[in-house]
Amino acid sequence: MSQTVKPHLESHMMPVFARADVAFERGEGAWLIATDGERYLDFTSGVAVNALGHAHPHLVAALQAQAAKLWHVSNLFTIPEGERLAARLCEASFADVAFFCNSGAEAMEAAIKLARKFQAVNGRPERYRLITFEGAFHGRTLATLAAGGQQKYLEGFGPRVDGFDQVPLGDLDAVKKAIGPHTAGILIEPWQGEGGVRAAEPMFFRALRQLCDDHKLVLVFDEVQTGMGRTGTLFAYEKTGVEPDIMALAKALGGGFPMGACLATAAAAAGMTPGTHGSTFGGNLLAVATANAVLDVMLAPGFFERVQRISVLLKQKLASIVDRYPDVVSDVRGDGLLIGLKAVVPAGDLVGALRQEKLLTVGAGENVVRLLPPLVVTEAEIDDAVSRLDRACAKLSRAPLRREAV
Ligand SMILES: *Cc1c(COP(=O)(O)O)cnc(C)c1O
Repeated sequence: MSQTVKPHLESHMMPVFARADVAFERGEGAWLIATDGERYLDFTSGVAVNALGHAHPHLVAALQAQAAKLWHVSNLFTIPEGERLAARLCEASFADVAFFCNSGAEAMEAAIKLARKFQAVNGRPERYRLITFEGAFHGRTLATLAAGGQQKYLEGFGPRVDGFDQVPLGDLDAVKKAIGPHTAGILIEPWQGEGGVRAAEPMFFRALRQLCDDHKLVLVFDEVQTGMGRTGTLFAYEKTGVEPDIMALAKALGGGFPMGACLATAAAAAGMTPGTHGSTFGGNLLAVATANAVLDVMLAPGFFERVQRISVLLKQKLASIVDRYPDVVSDVRGDGLLIGLKAVVPAGDLVGALRQEKLLTVGAGENVVRLLPPLVVTEAEIDDAVSRLDRACAKLSRAPLRREAV
């Protein structure tokens, strides 16, 4: 493996991402300003991360104040801001305890470990398997890849981590058949984000809850993408009518500061005693200060009512785009500001045409284009985005003449 002459490379970053040829140097709310001065309307929010937009004054102030005091002390010591964040997240959810980490995959790893440990400490150590769903995405670590079960991501990385049984989304009979003596729980995203903005019916979630109760299984929700307001409530599970036992959070939790969390009921976390899990960086002072600032904004009265109002407005306008350009887009899906446009043309073409109109969006499975504006997006910015979308669709449409009359 030794090499005598290094190859000449354009970029020294490992080329695992197909990056667009644009770089940004500043952000303001829903806007990104490129290095060439161009302004882009950002409906990616860093893939559902910057829920409060870019450079939100309250977040900037919280991070700067903390940065000047103390960054990191490790989990050898008590972290009062972390205690406060955990208490607030539990107060606002079904959970009793929170574990802090640094990413979605890591939050999911913790969730998987909790599910297994719960069974082990309750005298059922043989139960270690989780039922998961086709189209799921749970992260890029070896275990979370196995949980997601997407062949294209697993290939070439050795034996698949054991312990996951995948069934079609929404297929209750398949779930029942998959429950066996080794089943520890069921893992599901309230909305599949990467999978193409898809969700099962609330009835399905109620049935899963019932199955878990009947068979002493844990119900695990991956809210890494849906959590922290993306679907119009603080957590998406609130709309399913059921509560999970364990929930993973990450993306918007730190408003752009890398952070994840695994929340659980006291019963589900009963086996997680000192030494059973950990993280060097998890919940460090910068992370928890920023996450507390995110909560300050989201928990203020009226925040989610506004998100829901904006969501209805955006969906209505998108429905009219679907009506006008049926040869470009065929459907609007999603909830809150997790919106998917089912494309007729290749989704990548639409994302590219939108980028030319300086509207940033992100692709997903099932040939869907995701619109993920920051939750603080204004009505005027929604109008602006829809005009850009209209122009991009007009360019891609094969029948422009018919529509000019509209
Ligand atoms: C993004 C995502 C993950 C992985 O998060 P990372 O921070 O990239 O590890 C896991 N689950 C869901 C539902 C996600 O959307």
